[in-house]
Amino acid sequence: MAVAGIRSYVQRPPEGDYAAIVIGSGMSGLTCAALMAREGQRALVLERHYTAGGFTHVFRRGDYEWDVGIHYIGEVHRPESLLASVFRYLTDDKLEWADMGEVYDRIVFGDERFELHAGVDAFSRHLCEQFPSAADRRAIDRYVRLIRETSRAYRSYAMEKALPAPVSRLAGGLLRRRFLRFGGRTTRDVLDGLTDNPKLKGVLTGQYGDYGLPPGQSAFGMHALLAGHYMRGAAFPVGGSSRIAETIAAVIDSAGGVILTKAEVERILIEKSTAVGVKMTDGRELRAPLVISSAGVANTFGRLIARDDRERLGLAGLQDRVDPSWAHVGLYLGFRQTAEELGLQKANYWIYPEGGFDHDANVRAYLADPEREFPVVYISFPSAKDPDWESRYPGRATIDVITLAPYEWFARWEGTRWHRRGQDYEAFKQRLTDRLLDVLYRYEPQLRGKLDHCEMSTPLSTRHFVNYSRGEIYGLAHSPQRFAQRFLRPKTPVRRLWLTGQDITTAGIAGAAASGLLTLSAVRGKDYFRRFA
Ligand SMILES: Cc1cc2nc3c(=O)[nH]c(=O)nc-3n(C[C@H](O)[C@H](O)[C@H](O)COP(=O)(O)OP(=O)(O)OC[C@H]3O[C@@H](n4cnc5c(N)ncnc54)[C@H](O)[C@@H]3O)c2cc1C
Repeated sequence: MAVAGIRSYVQRPPEGDYAAIVIGSGMSGLTCAALMAREGQRALVLERHYTAGGFTHVFRRGDYEWDVGIHYIGEVHRPESLLASVFRYLTDDKLEWADMGEVYDRIVFGDERFELHAGVDAFSRHLCEQFPSAADRRAIDRYVRLIRETSRAYRSYAMEKALPAPVSRLAGGLLRRRFLRFGGRTTRDVLDGLTDNPKLKGVLTGQYGDYGLPPGQSAFGMHALLAGHYMRGAAFPVGGSSRIAETIAAVIDSAGGVILTKAEVERILIEKSTAVGVKMTDGRELRAPLVISSAGVANTFGRLIARDDRERLGLAGLQDRVDPSWAHVGLYLGFRQTAEELGLQKANYWIYPEGGFDHDANVRAYLADPEREFPVVYISFPSAKDPDWESRYPGRATIDVITLAPYEWFARWEGTRWHRRGQDYEAFKQRLTDRLLDVLYRYEPQLRGKLDHCEMSTPLSTRHFVNYSRGEIYGLAHSPQRFAQRFLRPKTPVRRLWLTGQDITTAGIAGAAASGLLTLSAVRGKDYFRRFA
């Protein structure tokens, strides 16, 4: 079905002049292009995948559709929030959100269950019911306050990234300090200072899969932003994740801009020290006065800039200063009954080993022996969350099951092609599939015998479709080292080349949208956040 503002590069290459070339059509690239469109400027968004949206894209098989990188988003369902206001602006108020209700996450350790309730008071109250001792209640109270303070301090930390170099040199340290005080330490370190109760720590960090690093390795800053983002509940796009790119594309289109799919950039063209355009993989050169890359720091500095330019401009090795995030496997399941008939709820599951409150220890054991219990299994019920689902896919339900899986386990099939990776690859996937299904059936036993479609994505799928060469689930790892880096900002040493995307802010739709605002703020020298505050 044709969608206004999205078309194939192969069928019709771009025409005319554009104010900017944006590499990648993920949430961040779309944000930049739509902000420009709102100011009457034509942006050309180049996307290598056959579909637009980056991790907001969906894929379809017969009677089913699955969202790849969106399961729930915080804040958007609260009309007064900054994020809701940003989305209204980017989509011309054409995107609706379905509130997930009171419980958004269920955290499970074997048979022990905890629920995260929407609303700061409800969140604390329900946790305190399960952790009633005075010491635990005090720790929960201090935890919630610390989440709020660290999240608030992020604003000036992030805005510093948009400042011109001389101002940043003068005031940068001060603007970053408040966030880094707790945000720059590991999550484990900060929580150790709040409580000695391992179970409470395990529950409070039970969403760590949302940023992909266990407490001993993750920055508390990322944890605080994530926990704070969801603390007032979460929502799902009505009509599925593809509605995000569709509604934003219409805004880009209204100013004469376009998103071209199957349009892979091979090189950023640099003359002296200025970016002048891009060279496509078919050899065509496209020029524009501004180039914005949302393809990730590793791609942009490591692959899209020619080696000579990299070395000449001091970019060599920059991307190696922070490790890539982990990779994942995803199980996409389809059932020939509705979510209601199957008794599926909206709230996600985070499933951990029985008594396995030490997430770092679980991860270590799993990395040493893949047959050990999964350190985390995430389960989402998209068809239960989307009120429009039944009108599009009547009588069907879908479930996503995800666990972490290091890229190294799959590296030996790197040279093979999608769908033709061989018997041993299929057997490895089947083993993981069977084990993940066992976990699902343990918690939703009524599903046994009802599975109609089952498909697994691996880190090689992430590499193939979204161009993360190590199958990274969230770009660069959200470690304390990452938050210490000053080069993760929109401005690059190359004139007229700007970065955007989750790597310069944080993973998540909110992080990616914020990166778009940040990039335009840096490019234009004005605060785009102010408009929505
Ligand atoms: C499994 C999973 C679940 C997630 N769940 C959630 C969730 O529930 N809630 C939430 O808020 N966030 C979630 N996220 C995170 C969120 O989806 C991402 O952080 C966000 O979408 C990243 O946006 P981005 O624009 O920075 O990058 P991307 O979406 O990765 O976009 C970058 C784009 O650049 C394109 N590209 C790369 N190289 C080139 C090239 N050479 N030429 C042209 N195009 C190129 C890629 O194909 C891609 O489309 C999830 C992510 C994953 C992987």
